[in-house]
Amino acid sequence: MSERKPFDLEAYARSVATAPCFICELVKGNPDFAHHVIAQDEDTIIFLNKYPTLRGYTLVCPKAHREDLAEELSPNEYLRLQSHVHRVSRALKTVFDAERIYVLSLGSQQANKHLHFHVAPLPKGVPLAQQQYQALMAENGVLQIPDEEMAAIARDISAAYAART
Ligand SMILES: [Zn+2]
Repeated sequence: MSERKPFDLEAYARSVATAPCFICELVKGNPDFAHHVIAQDEDTIIFLNKYPTLRGYTLVCPKAHREDLAEELSPNEYLRLQSHVHRVSRALKTVFDAERIYVLSLGSQQANKHLHFHVAPLPKGVPLAQQQYQALMAENGVLQIPDEEMAAIARDISAAYAART
């Protein structure tokens, strides 16, 4: 298990506040915003969180720049997005033998506006006090996972995702 290292949230907030939307740039293929992509189709892109607090921490996003979950997605668009969340949840369960799969939509109008779902596998054996929000919070540090290991994780999840049609 990689160790969690302190994360400078203020510097992160400053950099994303002035940067273009990182998800739109990833979708466009801008190499400055490259992430380890797990899967994508016409409407959805799925990739590894660059600042993971858990191994396999995945983001699921509409490719179109949508911000408001309640007002900018039709019921069908929402359900299609959720079908990807469920499918990648099943893939994460397989790859990481996770005890729980955490799912949530966060984001900020002051930072990362583009709608995205966090899907993160909680390993078995984490003490209760370190589960749930504590396991997800970058304030508790982020994992330092070498890029080639992130690439391997993305490949493993991608294979499991593809097997779960
Ligand atoms: Zn965007």
